[in-house]
Amino acid sequence: MISSTIRAPRYGQGRAGGKLIVDGRDEVVFRKAEIAFKPLTRAQKRSLLKLLDATRETFNAALQERRDAYQHPSRTKIDMFQQFGHITGLRGVRDDVLVWGIQPLRWSMRRVDEAFSAFFRRVSTGETPGYPRFKGKGRWRTIGYDETTGWKLNLGGTKKHPRPHLYVQGVGVIPLSNPAVRQLRQYAERGGVPTTLTLTRANKEGSAWRASIGFGDLAVEQLPVAQPGSTAGIDRGVAVLVALASGATAAEAMRAPETSGIMHHADDLVSRLSSIRAAIIALQQDRSGKKKYGRRWRQLSRRIARLHRRASNIEENWARHTAKHLVTEHEVIVLEDLNLQAMMRSAKGTIEEPGKNVAAKSGLNRALAQAAPARVARWVAVKAESAGLGRRIWLVNPANTSQQCSACGVIDATNRITRETFYCGSCGHYEHADINAARNIRARGLAAERAWNEAGRPGLVRPKPRLRRRKRPPPETAS
Ligand SMILES: [Zn+2]
Repeated sequence: MISSTIRAPRYGQGRAGGKLIVDGRDEVVFRKAEIAFKPLTRAQKRSLLKLLDATRETFNAALQERRDAYQHPSRTKIDMFQQFGHITGLRGVRDDVLVWGIQPLRWSMRRVDEAFSAFFRRVSTGETPGYPRFKGKGRWRTIGYDETTGWKLNLGGTKKHPRPHLYVQGVGVIPLSNPAVRQLRQYAERGGVPTTLTLTRANKEGSAWRASIGFGDLAVEQLPVAQPGSTAGIDRGVAVLVALASGATAAEAMRAPETSGIMHHADDLVSRLSSIRAAIIALQQDRSGKKKYGRRWRQLSRRIARLHRRASNIEENWARHTAKHLVTEHEVIVLEDLNLQAMMRSAKGTIEEPGKNVAAKSGLNRALAQAAPARVARWVAVKAESAGLGRRIWLVNPANTSQQCSACGVIDATNRITRETFYCGSCGHYEHADINAARNIRARGLAAERAWNEAGRPGLVRPKPRLRRRKRPPPETAS
């Protein structure tokens, strides 16, 4: 499991320190398979939407209870397991919300619990706390199951429904497409066991949905390293999305950055995105002359949203391939510590709400490409973990990586003479600016790795399981 950046301890001092987030020692990993589906019948669609509303209602009720308790002078604290206990009390009173089983309701309560934990964490660290909020219909799209009751993945079909399908209690049989079945079978062949499920409404009407099935115990690939012992430092810019320095000389890098395997240019990605950008701008201009929310306006909006999704998919594929290449080549990969979690959120935002977040304010061009470096970082971590064989991912301090000379170590803001060129006024070192930055990142990773070796190569700090039962107070005995 990839260690969260919050828990990962630092190895090494100052700038030469770093956090290890993947150690390549896992035998098995957890992965999610995403499947798009449409409800088979109107009744199934209605049932899914009703379940979505029941879980939202549960979230809001559980939140209300916690708020009341928190604001009460006694400051009573209610925990998740106490709230789980309320579900059985619904029997005979609200049987309508129990037809799907208790798991989806528990999942909503866990979401409340997480919202409160995050709230109290922000309070304790002095951040803007932001009290957990009630969810309106537009802000609640997902139904979840943390355990394997209430649903079943039947890849071999059943007697009554011989084709592969996903069965959900109270919703019925959801058929799986052939590509989905192929992916799910692959996971099963690697020993994967389906353990969690989420169902997400993919459009407003509820006619399109996504199922995400989490597989535990998936055997790692044990993918051999093409250059054993090699360490890559990765600089994530926007013009050149990824540059890495694995030991080639400055002269080699300047002569043939594309062919020496030192830089990954995103020219292809950028040109494909810019044609989409042109199409989006044309449609937006067309739309501006139409009556807002009219038939034609909505039609154009749908086409714009589709283009945003396409751009996002192209970027995701590019990031995945680049990451796979990096992980195949190198044993150790060093990235800048740029708040991976926030980046993962932003990359996700562009997928989920293409019309809203992207292109709103800050220039469409940048918006279309800005998630790419973060996507590469995320995929590098995921692919390295799956590859196994001792692969390590380090996150290092990003300060001054573009202003420091990789040859003599002097930091000077005037060293970067153009966006592309680095020239050290102190020692005369001259190099492509992104490669110079990548070398600095690599050097910081190597220093952290040395400190880690001296510490005896300790394993990762594993995040705690999500559903950990707290010790309950013993039941009060009547005397
Ligand atoms: Zn220098």
